[in-house]
Amino acid sequence: MKAKGYLRMLGKSWTSLDKDPSHLQVHYDFKYVEYADELNGNKPVKSEAIEQVIPNFSQFISKGIELKFSGRIRCIHCGKLTKKSFNQGSCYNCFVQLAQNDLCIMSPTRCHYHLGTCREPKWGEDNCFKKHSVYLANTSGPKVGITKEKKIENRWIDQGAVEGLELVTTNSRREAGIIEAYLSQFLPDRTTWQRMVTSNPIQGEIDFVKEKSKFVRAIENANLTMENEKGKSTAIEIKESSSKQVTKFNYPIEAFPKAKSYKVDPEQAIKSKLLGIKGQYLLLQDGVINLRTYEGYEFYLAIV
Ligand SMILES: [Zn+2]
Repeated sequence: MKAKGYLRMLGKSWTSLDKDPSHLQVHYDFKYVEYADELNGNKPVKSEAIEQVIPNFSQFISKGIELKFSGRIRCIHCGKLTKKSFNQGSCYNCFVQLAQNDLCIMSPTRCHYHLGTCREPKWGEDNCFKKHSVYLANTSGPKVGITKEKKIENRWIDQGAVEGLELVTTNSRREAGIIEAYLSQFLPDRTTWQRMVTSNPIQGEIDFVKEKSKFVRAIENANLTMENEKGKSTAIEIKESSSKQVTKFNYPIEAFPKAKSYKVDPEQAIKSKLLGIKGQYLLLQDGVINLRTYEGYEFYLAIV
């Protein structure tokens, strides 16, 4: 099997194990894009990407894999060639212009829409003023996080979580971010990737269901507020999630690799054996590769 194109994040799906809707087996599709300009032998310009999918990529676990970076990167937003990738896949223009590349996306408490300074107010309204979930997940250990994913499982899988439970929902990203910041005094809000890719954390060590009621009460008692467009302090609204059961994830992994991350290099192909897939990481015998880092990079892929 051979493919050539510009990398995208892995596609995800899941099926329930043992007919238990809370215990899920994760499946991955390998995704990349092509561009009509190059396919027609023309020079790359700003253009639309044509999506390509290699379904059920987990079927190649235990096979030899070769990945080679061509040295070319095309912006995942506008398709323009870019020498450097900013914020995982953007050209410099898209990096400084798009709201989704603003600092407040990584640090939602710094949302500045109410100050009238959102880079793209319409994008902000469509994305940041939608229902957001605050959740507990077990990635390299228990953590807290937020997402606007309607199917929250997508977020948990992207992070390589083996367990997840939704705590509360809010009406905006900023409110979810303020709650996350408050909860981060009790639990980390980050994943240690080295631990996540080399082992599964102990499951059930912290009883998420019990913690959920404790955390929800703590959030309610904290009376968290934020400043509105008139400079007035307003209460943060939360809705307790109805989830009562922890969702557990099983990843397609034959064995765990060393905690070594590949640096892609156009001079040198990565040749190894595919041991598994977790989060957005390919687990290879000699190290791991975080595909999210390389979105927009042109790769040659071969399964041998
Ligand atoms: Zn761009």
